Amino acid sequence: MSSTREPSFRQSVDLMFNRAAKLMDMSPGLEEKIRVCNSTYTVRFGVRLRGQIKTFTGYRSVHSEHMEPVKGGIRFAMSVNQDEVEALAALMTYKCALVETPFGGSKGGLCIDPREWEEHELELITRRFAYELIKRDLINPAQNVPAPDMGTGEREMAWIVDQYKRMNTTDINGAACVTGKPLNSGGIQGRVEATGRGVQYALEEFFRHPEDMAIAGLSGTLEGKRVIVQGLGNVGYHAAKFLSEESGCKIIGVIERDGAIMDDNGLNIEELKAHVTAQNGVKGYRGRFVENGAAVLEEDCDILIPAAMEAVINLDNAERIKTKLLIEAANGPVTAGADDILRDKGVVIIPDMYANAGGVTVSYFEWVKNLSHIRFGRMQRRQEESRHMLLVEELERLSADRGLKWEIDPKFKTRYLKGAGELELVRSGLDDTMRAAYQAMREVWHSRNDVTDLRTAAYLVSIGRVAASYRSKGL
Ligand code: NAD
Repeated sequence: MSSTREPSFRQSVDLMFNRAAKLMDMSPGLEEKIRVCNSTYTVRFGVRLRGQIKTFTGYRSVHSEHMEPVKGGIRFAMSVNQDEVEALAALMTYKCALVETPFGGSKGGLCIDPREWEEHELELITRRFAYELIKRDLINPAQNVPAPDMGTGEREMAWIVDQYKRMNTTDINGAACVTGKPLNSGGIQGRVEATGRGVQYALEEFFRHPEDMAIAGLSGTLEGKRVIVQGLGNVGYHAAKFLSEESGCKIIGVIERDGAIMDDNGLNIEELKAHVTAQNGVKGYRGRFVENGAAVLEEDCDILIPAAMEAVINLDNAERIKTKLLIEAANGPVTAGADDILRDKGVVIIPDMYANAGGVTVSYFEWVKNLSHIRFGRMQRRQEESRHMLLVEELERLSADRGLKWEIDPKFKTRYLKGAGELELVRSGLDDTMRAAYQAMREVWHSRNDVTDLRTAAYLVSIGRVAASYRSKGL
């Protein structure tokens, strides 16, 4: 973790905001309005567990309501505090604006170590926390829509949506009160892996721009690039899996709570994940085990992916970071001070508000699906297939009529004929979003002499959009 020489997480986000705001033509009043967090609700509630009443503390912070509903995950971790949820809520505002999901920013957290509790106990705690938020409209399909974050996943979202429906029995849009639900509770295909998938799409887009690669001192494609990942949870696991299995990267190191495992030939992520799940850590998996996991952040690699928690790259270790490209899959993994150092060293940082926006993007699709009460692709899929079939049959007829003996490759035919289902549409929408948002950032990065990094560019794009939205409301 970062040392006391550094600002808090929220101050760090504010410093980065200020750096960008200085470059903008905005009235000080509007700048202040955008920066501040609108409200933070703190709740302390009791649950009878193991024969006694246990008291828990939770938060739901709303950073900006320039668009509603507001959106942001719920985190279960012992480190949760007001400063952290406010920083994360602010990042949600900027993230949603950058990837053009029509939401304001929010975030929630519960101070709890989920590993200390049995499943039925966690359900009681989650339902009680949800009850406190629902009765204040801090969970509501039209006002505030949470999603999973560190320590929570589909299971918790299913409990929350069920709790909401019990308390709002006639709300026909109840399923849209939270995203990241399992499919059988109103979820959408492709949501579980969306954030990791978004990290992959972000890197693929970066590697489509030789000019940008050159700034990082990289060339070629993703194939063979040496990658180190911190955190093999939802985001880190999926990012590492897709990058190694599909994009040809070599994952040479994975850092977890108990240490790190390294293998220059590339780790098998599927096997390693099974090991981590069974053994509660990476220790014992084949490869070189490093007890001090954090030290592996400093190993030489092409791409470093912190995907666990905030402030892991800070004033204490920034100088020793050797990667060329750093993609912030976690929220706030680089402190403001470390950001300055890395920029001076020439490390290119793909910032969190863009890099991990895949989750909120697919959450947006899920919310839309819930409000429209129909699965994406359900109306068009077969119609699309029959139109494609018409073309294939016509080509075959023409070829037969003229004795040309053309044969359409059966593999091509199968692929061409297949209409897009929900998963294909979600991936296409996510890919499109990640490409468009990157291009918006790089346009600012390359067109302005006073913008030397992608983070500042990202803030400029998103603050500009939030400001426009406030202005059009007459503020
Ligand atoms: P998770 O709980 O699924 O996984 C976190 C992983 O990090 C776990 O495997 C944990 O063991 C590991 N970890 C924790 N502390 C560590 C440490 N000190 N060193 C190394 N590993 C450590 O959480 P997640 O949902 O994958 O979220 C990770 C990060 O991504 C968070 O910053 C979160 O805010 C951000 N994020 C998540 C989503 C999402 O859709 N889940 C979306 C956007 C951003």
